[in-house]
Amino acid sequence: MKNRLLALITLGFAFSTGSSALTPNDNPLMIDFNTPMQVVPFDNIRPEHYKPAFEAAMEQGRKAINAITVTKMVPDFRNTIEALEVANYPLKRIEAVFFNINSAETSREIQQIAQDISPVLTDYYNDITLNEALFSKVKSVYDKKESLALTTEQKKLLEDTYKSFVRNGANLNAAEKEEYRKVTAALSKLSLTFEENLLEETNSYQMHLTKESDLAGLPEFVREAAAMEAKSRKLEGWVFTLKAPSYIAFMKYADNRSLREELFRAYGSRCFHGNEKDNTAIIRQIVDLRLRMANLLGYPTYAAYVLEERMAGSPQKVNDFLKQLLDASLPVAKRDYQEVQDFARRSGVTAPVERWDWAYYSEKLKNEKFSLTDEMTKPYFRLEKVQEGIFNLATRLYGLTFKADATIPVYQKDVKAYQVFDENGAFLALLYVDYFPREGKQGGAWMTNYREQYRQGTTDFRPHVSLVLNFTKPTETKPSLLTYDEVRTFLHEFGHSLHSILSQCTYMSLSGTNVYRDFVELPSQIMENWAEQKEWLDEVAVHYQTGEKMPEALLASILKSRNFISGYASVRQLSFGMDDMAWHTLTDSLKVPVPAFEQAAMAAAELFPPVSGVSHSTAFAHIFSGGYAAGYYGYKWAEVLDADAFSVFKKNGIYDKATAKAFRENVLSKGGTENPMELYKRFRGQEPTIDALLEREGLK
Ligand SMILES: [Zn+2]
Repeated sequence: MKNRLLALITLGFAFSTGSSALTPNDNPLMIDFNTPMQVVPFDNIRPEHYKPAFEAAMEQGRKAINAITVTKMVPDFRNTIEALEVANYPLKRIEAVFFNINSAETSREIQQIAQDISPVLTDYYNDITLNEALFSKVKSVYDKKESLALTTEQKKLLEDTYKSFVRNGANLNAAEKEEYRKVTAALSKLSLTFEENLLEETNSYQMHLTKESDLAGLPEFVREAAAMEAKSRKLEGWVFTLKAPSYIAFMKYADNRSLREELFRAYGSRCFHGNEKDNTAIIRQIVDLRLRMANLLGYPTYAAYVLEERMAGSPQKVNDFLKQLLDASLPVAKRDYQEVQDFARRSGVTAPVERWDWAYYSEKLKNEKFSLTDEMTKPYFRLEKVQEGIFNLATRLYGLTFKADATIPVYQKDVKAYQVFDENGAFLALLYVDYFPREGKQGGAWMTNYREQYRQGTTDFRPHVSLVLNFTKPTETKPSLLTYDEVRTFLHEFGHSLHSILSQCTYMSLSGTNVYRDFVELPSQIMENWAEQKEWLDEVAVHYQTGEKMPEALLASILKSRNFISGYASVRQLSFGMDDMAWHTLTDSLKVPVPAFEQAAMAAAELFPPVSGVSHSTAFAHIFSGGYAAGYYGYKWAEVLDADAFSVFKKNGIYDKATAKAFRENVLSKGGTENPMELYKRFRGQEPTIDALLEREGLK
């Protein structure tokens, strides 16, 4: 997944006031959302509303924080820690709307606001963590924590609050604090620039084909989508782009090897053209500034700083973990590569299999081995039916029901809203679904919140969750049909949303998906396991025209092909984790060119001949703009957890309600209110091992 969980520190802000003639009553963001369930009134929000709303929310936050620091009362949990927690709720409300829109439905105007506002927000949050009077109050509560009668969640909030001050420079001297401010402000701007450059480079490329012979090998659905793309650009013929559905399909099916190479090179060289959208210098600056920040705070590397707050704990532990899995995966990956190479040779290719050949020949080999192509399975995975199957799964496991509600305002006409109810009929959450690619929408798939769950007094504010995906759009003749991989992606993001929907916490900063990064993928990845269960697939896979169930043989092929090139897939994920760790364990500025550095970092996991003119890191949004710095390994880490956790369902039954209940109560409802290993052990009865993963992937 690409999970857009907003980073607390880097997305802060404030403003120069005065330009807006709007009064608060004209600005829907500056008053209570006067809507059912206080949903965001998207239809009334205009870009010019954001800046004054941010300003007002920050002013409100400053006042609340000032009240904490000036009070003569003895600092205690309620008047200090809890007061601080809620001080920023108004600002979080605006941030959620704005940054989610910037990812899902942006424009030049919104991007400009993001650029203006991010450093202001960073300053605002720095003003909090570097506020000495405030920190001394927090510290005095922290120092007497043993004597306070606190709940488990309150204890966690106290510890997290204290640590967030220390980790954000509260113990630095005045000169260091000033530098810390400058470093974090620069970092927040650079991340945005990185992301904008990437979006621009992804959008600006097109491969325009006018000869039908160049389409050889492409299935009808791919041709149709490419023709539609051309039409929308007022061009004859077919247009292929670097957006996922178009790019992946071309690389998988196009017989024309040189066009595949052309498209691969375009994709692989995004933000690496030496022009003003090049990210090379940006990532060097980001990495330098992250290192400087870590050093200021007393850590030898940025990874050491980040990993202190992870299940893994340290760079050494992560590197050992990656190596352990690489050792298990590499022999299988080499066999996978050889098998595809041999197949290509049988098809008349004498040269080594290159990166732009991999998807193509492995797809053909898969077809030969399992009589399986995406084109054979896609008619059975109609989007609406898959959605129904996923909602039904949540019903069987957790008793949830989903009711479409067309009266809820949405930010784009294709977005749909559902009310989610618990088994006893109680309202649990609002769920938006946003399925198709657009200009102004980031690629990939993610889940996010417009409002996170929290309680105040006796009121339980239920979350407003959004699932954002990039599936193939319906055409004039066909509904949206998913590949099997897209079905898994859907389950994955839906799993994240369950973590939010089922949250039962008190404090927003600990609720839902606000957990350690290497734990956050457990609820999402465990859902993908159902895509490998015949019983579930039987319900979901129905032909969109005939209504017939997927034939047994085809279904069996999907399940049998589960571990096809799994060694390669494992090694590829590990190589991204290795690149990430290499960047973030640097102890000095990079002295070599970026491609040389990343090639060395990933060398132990490399199967292909090197390709010049491309760079993985300049488009590695996860670690340079997506909050996964020193955290990419977390996907594999969570796979260990999800395989281990799903083994309980396998043992007790994949729809076993008692197992689901235990998972809900111990993991999904608990957010970050306790150490994740403790939560996990309470569900599982023991710590996880890598055995279930190796077995599932056919790696042992
Ligand atoms: Zn995810």
